Amino acid sequence: MNTALRGELRPCISCGQCVDVCPAGIMPNVLHKYIYAKDIESTIDTRVDLCFECGLCSYICPSQIDLRQQFIDAKKAIREELEALIEEVEE
Ligand code: SF4
Ligand code: SF4
Repeated sequence: MNTALRGELRPCISCGQCVDVCPAGIMPNVLHKYIYAKDIESTIDTRVDLCFECGLCSYICPSQIDLRQQFIDAKKAIREELEALIEEVEE
């Protein structure tokens, strides 16, 4: 018997619920795929910067993917990469 109240940990099933609930109007499911593929350029293009970390996408996801944490980590990685680039230019 499965006691999970809202689905179980598994890959994205493309249900689109995270897109429906995102108040920032971005596509968490698409971002998740780009981040998984380590495609930083596409992650930036898909506007991960607009995520304000409300957590609704993580809450609604029937695959229990912690999307919010992935976006926090991705924004941090992008910020660090940009800072390193700026430092390089300034040297
Ligand atoms: S955590 Fe970010 S991506 Fe997820 S619903 Fe909130 S604003 Fe949208
Ligand atoms: S809610 Fe979860 S399973 Fe559904 S599309 Fe978004 S990431 Fe995929």
